[in-house]
Amino acid sequence: MGVSFALQNSSALVLNADFRPLSYFPLSLWPWQNAIKAVFLGRVNVVAQYERVVHSPSQSINLPSVISLKEYIPLGRKPAFTRFNVFLRDRFTCQYCGHGYVTEDLTFDHVVPRSRGGRTTWENVVTACAPCNLSKGHRMPGESGVFPLRHPIEPSNFQLHEQGRSFPPNFLHESWRDFLYWDSELENG
Ligand SMILES: [Zn+2]
Repeated sequence: MGVSFALQNSSALVLNADFRPLSYFPLSLWPWQNAIKAVFLGRVNVVAQYERVVHSPSQSINLPSVISLKEYIPLGRKPAFTRFNVFLRDRFTCQYCGHGYVTEDLTFDHVVPRSRGGRTTWENVVTACAPCNLSKGHRMPGESGVFPLRHPIEPSNFQLHEQGRSFPPNFLHESWRDFLYWDSELENG
């Protein structure tokens, strides 16, 4: 396909068959090439389009801005235990001082230190800023008197999904807005 214009920010928002985004954080976006391919393969429905058109020798097609999968993808019940998901569960907030940070400035802390037999699990790992992590050191919560603000638990995918809604990406095309954060809008209204 011949493309004669800039195509930055021409990603398609990908919705599940129930018209909810596959994920909020990061927002489920496909590059326009993948979106077009999926349209031609009949795997998705085009819900909204950009004005931009790409041309092939035989036809022109508007770039899709919102697509929905024809087949529903069930979300797994258990989220992956990753650093990032721990930060997301804790809303990028140090669980000791309560301040929010960017990901690069966050560490994770074992509530029961590993040197005391603490394990690396959802229930024993919390988000912490470097100063809090350092001052807590290898002491047990009972010794330091410092306890996490929220009792750490394993979140469900749904809960992480909900947390992610609070952190929208910098760029939101207007055609996406109908499919994002709609129930919070309704609550406010
Ligand atoms: Zn802190």
